[in-house]
Amino acid sequence: MKILFLASEVDPFAKTGGLADVAGALPKALAALGHDIRIVMPLYRQIDRAKFGLREAGVTVIVSVGPRRIEARVWTATLPKSAVTVHFIESAALFDRDGLYQERGKDYPDNLTRFSVFAQASLRMLPSLRWQPEVVHGHDWQAALACAHLARGPLGQEPFFASMAPVFTVHNLAYQGLFPREQWGLTQLPEPLFAIDGLEFYGQVNCLKGGLIGARGITTVSPTYAQEIQTAEFGCGLDGLLRARREDLTGILNGIDVEEWNPQTDPHLAARYAVEERAGKSLCKLALQQSQRLPEQHDLLIGMIQRLAEQKGIDLLVGAMEELMKLPVQLVILGTGDPVYHQQLERLAKRFPDRLAVNLTFDNALAHQIEAGADAFLMPSRFEPCGLNQMYSMRFGTVPIVRRVGGLADTVVDVTPAAKASKTATGFVFEEHSSRALLEAVKRTVTAFNDHPLWTLLMQTGMRQDFSWGRSARAYADVYERALHDHHRHPQPLAR
Ligand code: ADP
Repeated sequence: MKILFLASEVDPFAKTGGLADVAGALPKALAALGHDIRIVMPLYRQIDRAKFGLREAGVTVIVSVGPRRIEARVWTATLPKSAVTVHFIESAALFDRDGLYQERGKDYPDNLTRFSVFAQASLRMLPSLRWQPEVVHGHDWQAALACAHLARGPLGQEPFFASMAPVFTVHNLAYQGLFPREQWGLTQLPEPLFAIDGLEFYGQVNCLKGGLIGARGITTVSPTYAQEIQTAEFGCGLDGLLRARREDLTGILNGIDVEEWNPQTDPHLAARYAVEERAGKSLCKLALQQSQRLPEQHDLLIGMIQRLAEQKGIDLLVGAMEELMKLPVQLVILGTGDPVYHQQLERLAKRFPDRLAVNLTFDNALAHQIEAGADAFLMPSRFEPCGLNQMYSMRFGTVPIVRRVGGLADTVVDVTPAAKASKTATGFVFEEHSSRALLEAVKRTVTAFNDHPLWTLLMQTGMRQDFSWGRSARAYADVYERALHDHHRHPQPLAR
């Protein structure tokens, strides 16, 4: 099958979160299954053209956004460690900036223009590239307009595009790409689509809805999240629409890049180790304590790597900190995000210098070092579509402590008596969204940490889990088959 991936970030070219990991890894797994897959993303300033060998494709497209006509040039490279072709949409005015979506915590005011150009140019470049995908797979709101254009726009009626089945993946329903109605014209979609059964959302333009109404198949990144988003609690106002489309909605757990996250080969680590030979892990812990200026002692070392956002439950941690710091634990935090949390964590780090180390940066090498050096890994998320770090943790023999939501519920098996007996337990799971519940879970972890045989079993069981992309890639291929089948059986709805 020929598949075009549209993603606003792709590892290792540009990354702010889990979407980039998925967009950089899933195409490789699909290619390994024999599919012909290409990726398209914006050409941001951050992308090192020389390092990745970007070259001009010799294709220029002109797209309209409201009254403006914007010229975009196409560049091409290969996804490292693969043969997957990646195209880049170049528009210096739109993408040659310090941030991907925002600067200093403020979204760029012209984000609708930016991603309308991205979505349209990603499709418009195809005839010139002489490459006609059967499936166009958009990811998150930044790519959602492409699905809407194919399904409901005049472009989707053109013979070259009419055969393409749009598929859409929600990586995080909380980010919907909302814009004032005055900007509707920038989408270049037919006027009547600004309606409740189109992209209108409480008087605003909702880009994500373009994916949800336009796609033949909708996926999200874990089975539990697929259920949760159909409820008012997690539906972010779109639960009704998602319930209406539940027949076409599938939850597919993200895999992880098991080469990038491999304690046996990881170049970022002080020492390497494997499930049967874990001495290196103690050296990694020591190295982490040294780099973080924490005392070199045997207390439970807990790691945390995340966007500092309310979603991730950082407020629960802050609320629990006084009590937490009375326990025999050390805590290393790596994250960037909301300035409020930056200040709170900086203050706390000064108060507890022997127990708490805070790194308010984005640092991939340090992320690897924390995954390897920590004994346990904390994810107290309010909601979590999939979550990757709990899987990285298990692979590194680092025991996850998570809240029972979304993908965390699907990947971590709590240490219950039954799970202990069947040797399937991999971590500590708590229910309630509260600092008290978080604290209780850490206390359980401390107790288990002192039970050497149990702790060893938890580490080993986690390290033996298979989180590779193969199985997920096959599930995506099934979704593509079904979408294509539906698309050919039922002719497209005409632009309204
Ligand atoms: P989300 O996409 O909601 O941010 P995920 O758990 O799906 O959360 O993915 C987050 C990814 O970003 C992981 O690969 C994680 O290691 C990485 N990450 C997040 N914050 C940082 C940071 N400050 N430094 C390095 N890596 C980070």
